[in-house]
Amino acid sequence: MGAIILKTPEEIELMRESAQLVSKTLGMLAKEVKPGAKPLELDKLAEEFIRDHGGAPGFLGMYDFPNTLNWSPNEQVVHGIPDQTPLKDGDIISIDCGVFMNGFYGDHAYTFEVGEVAEETKALLKTAKESLYIGIEEFKAGNRVGDVGFAIQKYNEAQGYGIVRELVGHGLGNSLHEGPEMPNYGKRGRGKVFKEGLVVAIEPMINMGTHRVIQGRDGWTIKTADGKPSAHFEHNIAIVAGKPKLLSTFQYIYDALGIKTEEEVPFK
Ligand code: MG
Ligand code: MG
Repeated sequence: MGAIILKTPEEIELMRESAQLVSKTLGMLAKEVKPGAKPLELDKLAEEFIRDHGGAPGFLGMYDFPNTLNWSPNEQVVHGIPDQTPLKDGDIISIDCGVFMNGFYGDHAYTFEVGEVAEETKALLKTAKESLYIGIEEFKAGNRVGDVGFAIQKYNEAQGYGIVRELVGHGLGNSLHEGPEMPNYGKRGRGKVFKEGLVVAIEPMINMGTHRVIQGRDGWTIKTADGKPSAHFEHNIAIVAGKPKLLSTFQYIYDALGIKTEEEVPFK
């Protein structure tokens, strides 16, 4: 993980553009996520969409990753590689996407339901996404890294869910991974202090069962050790006037799916 680099208001506006493009990309994909959808076709759509809007795929070629999307169905946590396996009814699919534009990265993820999903899986997705906003509430000037992690951990563990330890959120800027590391677990009052102009990706990775994960044979895919489902939601947030401001948005996804929610209103 790199250094902590605080951003100027002008840089934050450029970062908002990168975050908005990746948000629009996931919104475009939301209409395509359905039983029978082919991962590599959606990956191609995403790459074309990003390039048509003046950006470059942020993950393609990064550490030699072969695609535009991280495609992680069901028990896969993150870093899955799109393949020929079509989505099927009852799946969940975590799509993580990066954009590089204006010299800055956007990095954004959402776990989608495919067709009709089991009630206990819906509950996992609901809690994991709520915990993202509970973490974001703690991302303000004067608070510390541990305050965010503590809030996310407590909320999910109250439901018996496992918090992935091996992968964490991160600072964001000219590099995809800047400091500080932003774990989804922690202790109140510990770690680096948040300051004006800090931009981070907060991204809870929440497992229905054990927090333990294993790496797939492809050297990329991270999956749950017990084979139970895992959820991943990621926003990009800046500290502006001391408070958390969302640079990314799920609104394009919600517009595509007809979902009504006020969840982002406090962070506009
Ligand atoms: Mg990401
Ligand atoms: Mg990230």
